[in-house]
Amino acid sequence: MISREKLIELLEERSPARVRALLDTADRTRAYAVGESVHLRALIEISNVCRRNCLYCGLRAANRHLPRYRMADREIVEAVLSAAARGRRTVVLQSGEDSALTAPRVARMIRRIKDAADVAVTLSLGEYPRDDYFQMREAGADRYLLKHETVDPDLYKSLHPGMSFERRIRCLVWLKEAGFQAGSGMMVGLPGQSAATLADDIIFLRRLDADMAGIGPFIPHPHTPLKHSSPGGADLCLKAVALTRLALPFAHIPATTALATLCPNGTERALKAGADVIMPLATPEKYRRLYEIYPDRSPSSDSGPDSVIELVRRLGRTVSRDYGHTAPRLNLLAPFDISAYKRALQRCPL
Ligand code: SF4
Repeated sequence: MISREKLIELLEERSPARVRALLDTADRTRAYAVGESVHLRALIEISNVCRRNCLYCGLRAANRHLPRYRMADREIVEAVLSAAARGRRTVVLQSGEDSALTAPRVARMIRRIKDAADVAVTLSLGEYPRDDYFQMREAGADRYLLKHETVDPDLYKSLHPGMSFERRIRCLVWLKEAGFQAGSGMMVGLPGQSAATLADDIIFLRRLDADMAGIGPFIPHPHTPLKHSSPGGADLCLKAVALTRLALPFAHIPATTALATLCPNGTERALKAGADVIMPLATPEKYRRLYEIYPDRSPSSDSGPDSVIELVRRLGRTVSRDYGHTAPRLNLLAPFDISAYKRALQRCPL
């Protein structure tokens, strides 16, 4: 693992040639560790109701400008079937922290989905008690995403009123105990964040042995307390993606919609910097503009000439036809054969 000092130095690196070398090294590491397949996970945003008040998020409960919606179970299953018909082998069910999404209801929904379609199910529904996670896992959910956002406890507290960093970590541990492929991740460019904080985020993901790592830039939303803050930088975000790939060679790392929103070729740049996942939007059309975590989202499409499928082909890579589960591991206690990884790192002149 690269040292904390080296991570900070690389995150602060400004020489275009050295940054290019870092991104290329991450790309080579991705190629040997997880291969040339790009996994398309269909994202279905099932509710924009949230009881939390995260300072950066347009779904926060205090945002009275946003009309709220909750998809009915029938609509969710229809959206899953539609994604499956387009060849998607994973659906990601995402929502705000909606009290209506109780564990029994989520478990019922997972069973209906598994009965109806041959897909892996990823959940991204926020914090629950330990037993609830077990209930969802027993119902058949495969993966769970719970971003830690920042590993700095003070920054976490200031951005998440009424929430606790310790509780967040505990939830991530519970998800692993329940047998989920567990993902986490952070936002890049948060007000008050430093290169050292980001380095600690990457070290945290490695310690967690995260199966998935989502890294996207902060984008201010006009109806939040951070509306006047500057957005995160695309270049810094790409460096964080690359360093996360080096720290977690076998993880699945998405080219995030937030990065695509911030810069027009963000998806392509992320795929060349260590990412191997794209999450095309599969939310029904009528709800899409209402899932406004940040404004002017630029979601990926998996059909048409500008689709991500065309992009994947243009890059000489293939669209995965399998579920895209994490490779059997391969963790810190049982290290993988590291020689190819070391060779890739040796070629990096940094
Ligand atoms: S980040 Fe998640 S928990 Fe926080 S306000 Fe937004 S949707 Fe709710």
